Amino acid sequence: MTPKKKRDISNDLVFLPLGGTGEIGMNCYCYGVGPNDDRQWLMVDLGVKFGEETDPGIDVILPDVGFMASDKGNLHGIVLTHAHEDHLGAVAWLWPQLECPVYCTPFAAQILALKLKEAGLDEQVPVKVIEAGSKFTAGPFACEFVSVTHSIPEPTALLIKTKQGTVLHSGDWKIDRSPVLGQGMDEKRLRAIGGEGVDVLVCDSTNVLREGHSPSEADVSDTLMQIVTHATGRVAVTTFASHVDRIAAAIRAARANGREVVIAGRAMRNTIEAARACGMLKDSGRLLDEEEFGYLPPDKVMLLCTGSQGEPRAAIARIAEDQHPHVSLDPGDLVIFSSKTIPGNEKEVSRVLNNLARLDIDVITSDEALVHSSGHPRQGELQQLYDWLKPRALIPMHGEPRHLRAHALFARSHGIADVLIPRDGFIARLAPGPLAMIDEAPFGRLHVDGKLIVPSDDGPAKQRRKLSFVGIVFVTVVVNSRQDLAADIELLTDGLPMGLEDDLLEAAEHAFGSTPKPRRKDAAGLAETLRTAVRRAADSIWGKKPIVKVQVVML
Ligand SMILES: [Zn+2]
Ligand SMILES: [Zn+2]
Repeated sequence: MTPKKKRDISNDLVFLPLGGTGEIGMNCYCYGVGPNDDRQWLMVDLGVKFGEETDPGIDVILPDVGFMASDKGNLHGIVLTHAHEDHLGAVAWLWPQLECPVYCTPFAAQILALKLKEAGLDEQVPVKVIEAGSKFTAGPFACEFVSVTHSIPEPTALLIKTKQGTVLHSGDWKIDRSPVLGQGMDEKRLRAIGGEGVDVLVCDSTNVLREGHSPSEADVSDTLMQIVTHATGRVAVTTFASHVDRIAAAIRAARANGREVVIAGRAMRNTIEAARACGMLKDSGRLLDEEEFGYLPPDKVMLLCTGSQGEPRAAIARIAEDQHPHVSLDPGDLVIFSSKTIPGNEKEVSRVLNNLARLDIDVITSDEALVHSSGHPRQGELQQLYDWLKPRALIPMHGEPRHLRAHALFARSHGIADVLIPRDGFIARLAPGPLAMIDEAPFGRLHVDGKLIVPSDDGPAKQRRKLSFVGIVFVTVVVNSRQDLAADIELLTDGLPMGLEDDLLEAAEHAFGSTPKPRRKDAAGLAETLRTAVRRAADSIWGKKPIVKVQVVML
């Protein structure tokens, strides 16, 4: 009998981001222990990123988790730090590739359940519900959810202990000493964890460029209360659908001023339902449907709605176009944007603001009053967390390259000597020894196109982008057995300026006529000749080359 190979217990603890370093969104971070040919893995968060204008028809982008899928026998779980889309939104899409338990808090479990149900996966996914502040074990990873504060219920940081080392994965957080809801930041536990020793802090970088401390939700709540108290007409508040603290604050302001609350937007209704299932918003009273809005006196109603990012189908965009079936506002009514505009959404938001201005409706945004506070740590808060945890080393995450770099510089200048800027697809050693890039893994993006998952690089979006610039021409040629035309050449166009068809058809006919008969037997060669001729003709008249598709039918 051959002796069993002795396992090397000095193996590395590694970190592999598959999304979330280099962009804000699509968070997917993997921690691994063990020999590199038999590494045991834990995935932290599995989120989406929203599509950009450059990818027509793509609303959602997913991280490519093919590398983990190919080793799923060694993947011990997906831990979700909180219920935001950029941390949880990809689970229903990608779980079938990964097939492992999912660990999350009760609120995240409620939000996830809706998505799994829609995907027909609710019976299959083993969701392990863990209260914030509790410990659990997934394979060789001893984990603990530590309560933090953020902009959604039950945000957590994740403490991961392994034989090889200890990591505190911050999740998304800020220090809010007076949140409207929730148990708040567990400062005592974080200090204790610091006392026990933290090798690496993997930390949120979103607001590292801002000095000082974030305002508290309580301050935002006070501002909303003052504004609503002074309002005389109808009030509409639009915010992030998942921001239950803010929803609670708006409802409180309404109730204090004798206003009924009407909810518009499916996502916001879903959040409210999930929050109530977890014991939140118990004292918010009956929330009315949008059909009831029109029957209420202007000074007795508040509308709470989605669309703070200018989403064209959301309630506030339709109200601003005076196209909402149940809700309309009059001159002098007030809309509060209790949100910030996420970079990339500026055009859409300003369209809604301009439409509201056309209707002579008053608007307050976070530029005019403290009606929003971000859920991410500014410099003062980062420094505070470093002080509590005293990590040996730091890896910045949840940021674009400029945020990651600034966070690295900030951490170094605040006494953390060992800092490494991570990259999606690069494996970093966290322990033992100093941080170091040691390997690479395949990574990438996937597009959600309708109901299908397609590649991002060579997927349909690339072709659509091309089409959107130059349009398309279809040419059909029918050739008989004597290599002559059996019918006139047909040409159809879409997305081209008017009046080009005749010239393009003439170019196709000319190209056919000048092709010698023996060469007309080669259908592919003939198609290419015509394609080139049509593109060239378009270029000479129009100055652009359309996409040209030629179909040759041989009789
Ligand atoms: Zn996030
Ligand atoms: Zn978040």
